[in-house]
Parts: sequence; structure tokens; C-alpha cells
Amino acid sequence: VDLWQVTSGQQTHAVNLQMHTCGCRKWDLSGIPCNHAISAINKAKRKPEDYVSKFFKKEIYLAAYEPMIYPVPGEHDWTRTPGPDIDPPAFK
Ligand SMILES: [Zn+2]
Repeated sequence: VDLWQVTSGQQTHAVNLQMHTCGCRKWDLSGIPCNHAISAINKAKRKPEDYVSKFFKKEIYLAAYEPMIYPVPGEHDWTRTPGPDIDPPAFK
């Protein structure tokens, strides 16, 4: 199995190379292997780039722009509606 225990300083994390997860949660959240995961990947003699989420790969980037992106007219051409303008939330 692809389970690793990685100790860094005072902390120890469980890395799962198959599920692309680490106990620190950085890999799970970002899709990019954290330092713990990269340690495990190196120890397994594999390449970290093979463990980066497919959403960062060129193929998926191109697919995102594959469909037609329709032109949007400027504000001067927008239809005026009777309701109040929608403002952003109040700054806190
Ligand atoms: Zn981690």
C-alpha cells in the first residue's frame, strides 16, 4: 500500500499516496503535494509532478477554454431594471 508516516520537526503526518492526502490537509486542499507528501514520494522513488492534481495540467486548462466564450456587451448596453441596484456586502 501507499501509506507513509512522515515526521517533520515535532509533527508526524500520515500520507496516502494513492488517495493524494496528508494529515496536514494541505495536499487535500490545494491539489499540490505538501512537503510531507514529497518526502514520501521521493522515498518511494517516484516523481512529485505525477502527484499534482490533473486540474493544474495543460490538458485540463485547454479543456476549460474549449467551449465558445460569448462576447459580453459593455455596461451602456445593459437593460435597465426597476429594482434597486445590487451592491456588494457591507465591509466589516
Ligand atoms: Zn502534509
